[in-house]
Amino acid sequence: MVKTIFHTHPSSQIPLRWRLTIWYLLTLGAILLLFAAFLYWQLQRNLYAQVDTTLQLAASQAFINVDADGDTIAFQNVDNLSDPQYQNEELTYYLLSSDGVLLEQLGQDTAVSPQLPQQTGYVTLAIDGDTWRVYSQLVTVNNATGWVQVVQNLDPIVETLERLLTQMTIGVPLALALAGIGGLLLASSALRPIVRITQTAQSITGSDLNRRIHYQGPTDELGRLAQTFDDMLDRLQAAFERERRFTGDAAHELRTPLAALKGRIGVTLSKPRPLVEYTDTLHEMEGQVDRLIHLSNDLLFMARLDQRQMPLRLEPIALPDFLAAVVDQVSPLAEAKQLELYEHVPDHLFINGDIDLLIRLFLNLLDNAIKYTPEGGQVSIAAQMENQQVRIAISDTGTGISKEHLPHLFERFYRVEEDRTRSGKTNGQSGAGGAGLGLAIAYEIVRAHKGNMTVESQPNQGTTFIVQLPA
Ligand code: ADP
Repeated sequence: MVKTIFHTHPSSQIPLRWRLTIWYLLTLGAILLLFAAFLYWQLQRNLYAQVDTTLQLAASQAFINVDADGDTIAFQNVDNLSDPQYQNEELTYYLLSSDGVLLEQLGQDTAVSPQLPQQTGYVTLAIDGDTWRVYSQLVTVNNATGWVQVVQNLDPIVETLERLLTQMTIGVPLALALAGIGGLLLASSALRPIVRITQTAQSITGSDLNRRIHYQGPTDELGRLAQTFDDMLDRLQAAFERERRFTGDAAHELRTPLAALKGRIGVTLSKPRPLVEYTDTLHEMEGQVDRLIHLSNDLLFMARLDQRQMPLRLEPIALPDFLAAVVDQVSPLAEAKQLELYEHVPDHLFINGDIDLLIRLFLNLLDNAIKYTPEGGQVSIAAQMENQQVRIAISDTGTGISKEHLPHLFERFYRVEEDRTRSGKTNGQSGAGGAGLGLAIAYEIVRAHKGNMTVESQPNQGTTFIVQLPA
C-alpha cells in the first residue's frame, strides 16, 4: 500500500469553503470600507460646501442692505433680510465697524462673539463643544467701512455625519456577516460534488474499479471534472483488465512447456535407460527450453515497449536494401517449402525508423506468411509511397484468416482457434512456436513509429498485412 504524504501548507488545512468565504469577505470588506469612506467624504464635502454657499449668499444679501450713516454703516432694509427668501433661522448676521465693534445683530443669538476679521473669507470656530462657521465680508459704503459677518452652527451637519458613521459601523459588519453566511452556503453547495468525487475516489481500490461518480449535474467545470474522472477510471479499468489477462496468459504459456519438461523428466527418471535415450530426452528438452527462452524474450520485449523504456533510434533507412536483406534472411524457409518469394520495392524509397525494431517487424510478418502458406504458394512484399507515407504490403496465398478473428489478431496471446495446437515456428527468430505474441509485437513496433498496420484476408485464398510508416 503506497501512502502519499502531502507537504501541507498551514492554510491548506482550512477547508476550501472556509478559505473561499474568508477571501470573499476580505475582498467585500475592503470594497465596503472604501465605499463607506468615499460616501462619508463626499457627503461631508457637500454639506460644508452647501453651508459655505449659504453663508456667502446671505452675506451678499446683507451687503446690499448696508448703507452709510455718516461715517458709520448700518443695515437699511432690515425687512428685506427678514424676507423668507433670505431668512434662514440658523443664521446670525453681524455688522461690525472697521475696528471690530459690533454695530448691529440680526437673527438668533449665538455663542460666537463678533470678532474683527483679517480678510474676507471663512473661519471655523469651536466653542464649548459646538462648531461654528463664520463668513466675513468687508463692506465699503461711501467713506464708511466695516464688516458683514454671517454665522452658522455646524452641529446639525456634524450630527448628520456622526449618524452616518454610526449606521456604517453597524451596517458594514452586518452586511459582511450576511454575505459571509451566504458565501459559505454557496461555497458549500458548489463544492458538494467535489466531496462526492472524493468519497468515490476513496472507495475505489485496485480490486474494485467498477465504481463511477455518474455525475448528474450540468456540464460545467465540476461536471467535466467528474466526467474526466469517470473516463479515467474506464481507461484504468481497461488497462488493469489487460494487465491481468496478460499476466494470466503469460503464466499459462510458461506453464505448458514447463509441464511438458517435468513430465518428460519424470518418465525418463522412472527407470534406468540406455545412454541414447537420455541424449534423446535432453535434445527434446532443449527444444522446450528454447521455446521458454523465446517466450520470455518476447515478454521482456513487450514489457519494455510498454514502459517506453526502448527509445527509438531513428535513422533514415533505404528501403530497397533493407527489405532485400530481410527477404534474404527468410528465403531459405521459403525455398524449403518451395514458395515463390517476390519483392517489389521502388528505388530511392526511404523510411525513418529504428532498424532493429523494423527487422523484427518484417521478419515476424514474413515468417508468418511463409508459415501459413502451403507448399507451392507465393509470398510477396511490395512497397510504395502513399499520402506522404510508405505503404508496405506483405501478401501470401496461404490459409487466410476468417473474418471473426481479424479484429483480435493484434491482441497479445491471440491465436486463431484451429492453431491452438501449435507447431514450432519455422524461423529461428521466434522459433519457439506461436504464443500469439508475434503480431502483437509487430503492431506495437508500428505504433512506436507512429505508423499504422491493418490486415485483409480471405480464407483459403491468402492474407495481406499492410504497414504504413511515416516517410
Ligand atoms: P504466433 O506467434 O502464434 O504465430 P502471431 O501473433 O504471429 O502468433 O499470429 C497470431 C495468429 O494469427 C496466428 O495464430 C495465426 O493463426 C494467424 N496468422 C498470422 N499471420 C498469418 C498469415 N499470414 N496467414 C494466416 N494466418 C496468420
